[in-house]
Amino acid sequence: MLQEVTVSELLERYDGLLLDAYGVLIDAQGALPGAREVIDHLNGRGFPYWVVTNDASRLPDTASARYADLGLRIPADRIITAGSLLTPYFARCGLRGATCAVIGPPDSAAYVRQAGATVVDWTDAAVSRVDALVIGDEEPVDFLPRMNDALSLVFSRLDAGSPVRLILPNPDLIYPAGRGRFGFTAGSMALWIEAAAAQRYPELPIQAFVRLGKPYPAIFEAAVDRAQTRNLAMVGDQLETDIRGARAFGIDAVLATFGLTRDALDVTAPDVMPDFLLRAWAL
Ligand SMILES: [Mg+2]
Repeated sequence: MLQEVTVSELLERYDGLLLDAYGVLIDAQGALPGAREVIDHLNGRGFPYWVVTNDASRLPDTASARYADLGLRIPADRIITAGSLLTPYFARCGLRGATCAVIGPPDSAAYVRQAGATVVDWTDAAVSRVDALVIGDEEPVDFLPRMNDALSLVFSRLDAGSPVRLILPNPDLIYPAGRGRFGFTAGSMALWIEAAAAQRYPELPIQAFVRLGKPYPAIFEAAVDRAQTRNLAMVGDQLETDIRGARAFGIDAVLATFGLTRDALDVTAPDVMPDFLLRAWAL
């Protein structure tokens, strides 16, 4: 039987909290009940917390302004996004100065530029010579034509024997969009391209995107870097990203059951079993 935990117990037990955004602090309707009071309380106490989100479509400043519109006073430096993982990744892989094709809104391209790369326009002839393809978000209005561009880029480079590097900051496949409603997100777009390349080039190694956000360790490493402690709890609503990622990284996982995924409790696989349940943002 899973143990329930309260906000005050979390503050006593841990030296810092990692909070997922969508389904924990906000949803499509706005801030979730009690989220504003809890954020105000954390700010007032100076308790260390970071929003840890797979978003790669908004810079921390943009996200902070959006949270503020919803009544959540979360400074940009308390927001760790999957998009911001591009900077250490590009540094580690010698991709500063690289040229990239990016799918996503302007902030996705801004993340790539922050990482030291040049972003080429999809209409530019240079797109065929890029070093990397980054799928930042599912948002582009011309979704299918852009995906076709990306597929053609990947295929033409495989034909030429010089595969393009594939990078996916946000590995989420879907997002819950309200009661009974779901949407595809960037991770599913990567699967399309991976499956198509595997079918067309069965003799080649699998063309896989490098995945950076939850449940992979890079975003948790970034959080530990900021927090300077591993005595952290990840509060999330998604078993496959928040809970699996925190458990694999070795920090505690708290499943928020008040967001969009109340039915998640039916899943009892050990590697997605949370340490605690949080049933409400009540102080
Ligand atoms: Mg979530």
